[in-house]
Amino acid sequence: MKPEEKASILIEALPYIQEYAGKIIVVKYGGNAMIDEDLKQAVMEDLLLLQLNGIHVVLVHGGGPEINEMLKKTGTESHFVNGLRYTDEETMNIVQMVLCGKVNKDLCSLLGGKGIGLSGLDARLFEAVPHTDDEQTDYGRVGDIVKVNPELIQNVIDQGYIPVISSVAGGQDDGLSYNINADTAACKIASALKAKKLILLTDVKGLMEDPSDESTLIRKLKVSQVPALIREGVISGGMIPKVDCCVEAIRQGVQRANIQDGRVPHSILIELLSNEGIGTMFC
Ligand code: ADP
Ligand code: MG
Repeated sequence: MKPEEKASILIEALPYIQEYAGKIIVVKYGGNAMIDEDLKQAVMEDLLLLQLNGIHVVLVHGGGPEINEMLKKTGTESHFVNGLRYTDEETMNIVQMVLCGKVNKDLCSLLGGKGIGLSGLDARLFEAVPHTDDEQTDYGRVGDIVKVNPELIQNVIDQGYIPVISSVAGGQDDGLSYNINADTAACKIASALKAKKLILLTDVKGLMEDPSDESTLIRKLKVSQVPALIREGVISGGMIPKVDCCVEAIRQGVQRANIQDGRVPHSILIELLSNEGIGTMFC
């Protein structure tokens, strides 16, 4: 590529940098899109590039595959209830160890001195109560966030750092730790910070009308169209909390929410700083 062509690619980003500079972008990263080390490096490079251009980034992460691996190694039994991992005390200890320890610090160390690792337990960022449903099912230490105290995150942003937040919360009334779906945690923090954009990275292209056919990707969706898609059964499994989060974030004042393919290297830069869009945009 000629130097002029490289320059024109860089200059394509200028209006987008101007639009997002000084604003907050919340990125959720997790699941299978986090296993590949090269991809992980590429995601962290995207965040660093944004941050160095004056765009405030907050990273929220899960880590299902790493938790599974540690449960296996320690011989801890775990089972799923209605799609959620039943989390007993022993499992919660492992979830906290893996997410707040290993995964969180690994991500921070890839951020070249710009990352600060936190969890929902720090400064009571996330307060939770036990998750319930209409049938009063017991999910153990799976929690629902009922309060967000984002002051520390704002301070960390103001100091020029990237907060890296693991999806563990503190019990509102009992001082225990709770396991939180990372999409939900990202939505809550994006709403509390009035972020300009919420990006959910996952291991598929986005929301599809037929999950087995990538050509059915839905590129743009109004939140008012979502209930019909849920009724029709188009949205299922791990896609349900993602879509719910996007809808809630938009209702809470986040301008845009995007579900996109974390397996595409530099997909965050493509979405934010180029004329190309990627994935499914909620507005
Ligand atoms: P993550 O680890 O990123 O949270 P999940 O496995 O929880 O990923 O959720 C993404 C999964 O949701 C996809 O891998 C896919 O199997 C499933 N899914 C269900 N319905 C859809 C749909 N309509 N479009 C795309 N993916 C869907
Ligand atoms: Mg998920």
